[in-house]
Amino acid sequence: MQKKVGIIGAMEIELNQLKSILQDKKETETAGMTFFEGTVSGCPVVLVRSGIGKVNAALCAQLLALKFGVTHVINTGIAGAMAHGLKVLDFVVSSDALYHDMDATGFGYKPTQIPQMECSDFRADPALIEAARNAFGRTGDSASHKMLLGRVASGDQFISDRALKEKIRSICDPACVEMEGAAIAHACYLNKIPFVIIRCMSDMADDGEETSYTFNEQTAAALSATLVIKMLDTVK
Ligand code: SAH
Repeated sequence: MQKKVGIIGAMEIELNQLKSILQDKKETETAGMTFFEGTVSGCPVVLVRSGIGKVNAALCAQLLALKFGVTHVINTGIAGAMAHGLKVLDFVVSSDALYHDMDATGFGYKPTQIPQMECSDFRADPALIEAARNAFGRTGDSASHKMLLGRVASGDQFISDRALKEKIRSICDPACVEMEGAAIAHACYLNKIPFVIIRCMSDMADDGEETSYTFNEQTAAALSATLVIKMLDTVK
């Protein structure tokens, strides 16, 4: 079957590199989002900026599934580092993704567990994970930065506080924290579409004044998109 890869970035800066090399571009507006269909590195893709946060991200992934018939989904972008030893401009490729802010513990559910759902921790596709690791090995970045396979925790909160970082660690011990990945993973799980989340670290999720984020967001966003472009060589 011909592959068609939906590529979601929450923000414009996370898609710029991909958009600049998109061939045979066709634009469609739906639900306030612009979907760009075409090819990147010879691979059929649909590029879209979802907007920030879980609802925007889930809606976007659902539209990719229903209206554009994508066979795979890649979420590219930036995140706050959570795993010990992980630094700014290092990468995380998702093993799985969950919501750090899902809390129905009052009913006896575990933190992060979605009530009445059989799955709350959505597992990324092994072939896409392998494609990401392989692409990372082919970049110059692999000499100066590392890539960790690990859990992505998402929530509708920008994490820039040490105590909050520790709390999230104690709840679900993620490799990184951001605001969209698990919602995309959730939509992909329900639609039976393989997905992976690629995030380059923009900050340490404990900066207080978000200085590291502001300084690194452009670079981290571009590094992640560049990695996705390399991945598409092997995904197609
Ligand atoms: N700079 C933007 C707001 C960005 S919100 C503005 O001024 O409008 C942060 C974005 O980066 C989200 O898309 C989220 O997924 C990601 N992110 C990076 N670091 C994060 C952190 N420490 N906590 C939560 N999300 C983070």
